[in-house]
Amino acid sequence: MRLVLLGPPGSGKGTQAARLAARHGVPAISTGQIFESDIAAGTPLGKQAEDYVRRGELVPDTVVLEMVRERLLDRSDCAQGFVLDGFPRTLPQAEGLDRNLVNACGELDVVIDLDVDESEVLERIAGRARTEGRVDDTRETAINRLKVFTDETAPLRRYYRDRALLVTVDGTGSPDEVADRIEAALADRAARRPRLV
Ligand code: AMP
Repeated sequence: MRLVLLGPPGSGKGTQAARLAARHGVPAISTGQIFESDIAAGTPLGKQAEDYVRRGELVPDTVVLEMVRERLLDRSDCAQGFVLDGFPRTLPQAEGLDRNLVNACGELDVVIDLDVDESEVLERIAGRARTEGRVDDTRETAINRLKVFTDETAPLRRYYRDRALLVTVDGTGSPDEVADRIEAALADRAARRPRLV
């Protein structure tokens, strides 16, 4: 399974990525988590990313692409498949993924777009700020991250729809409900496209 989770910040990508990874026995790779731990550890990558992450802006494509290339290709993780959470986020990232991935890992199987409306997403981010204390979970940053999503990442829906990879899943409700919907959507897709089984 080579799967991308799309969806705005606060749509539950991280939670669902972990579940998908556990259920299907593949690694979940979260670019946001990699940045967060590198920032905490003060690595060179963390230092490069820190200002962008704190402002809720995107880390430059070249930095992200190099990091993902290293994670996917150099560790040979991609052979068994993967769940990508929070990557790609821009068209150049999606194109870079296509270029790098196909030879080494095969083509993407599916892109799950978690659909949650803006007001709910803002509420969830505020809740997460209280419980998790992420560096970028202030309301102001959250609003900026949503705008960045609309401007830079939402166009990927079209990119993947044109490639017949996009599956939109209702991301409202409990994590269990959303996970069930995702599994149902994957089963439905596999039934219609036997090469995915
Ligand atoms: P996330 O946890 O996925 O919401 O990511 C947190 C932050 O990390 C984002 O607001 C960006 O600053 C940065 N980030 C994560 N993934 C990417 C990416 N694919 N491209 C650029 N910046 C990213």
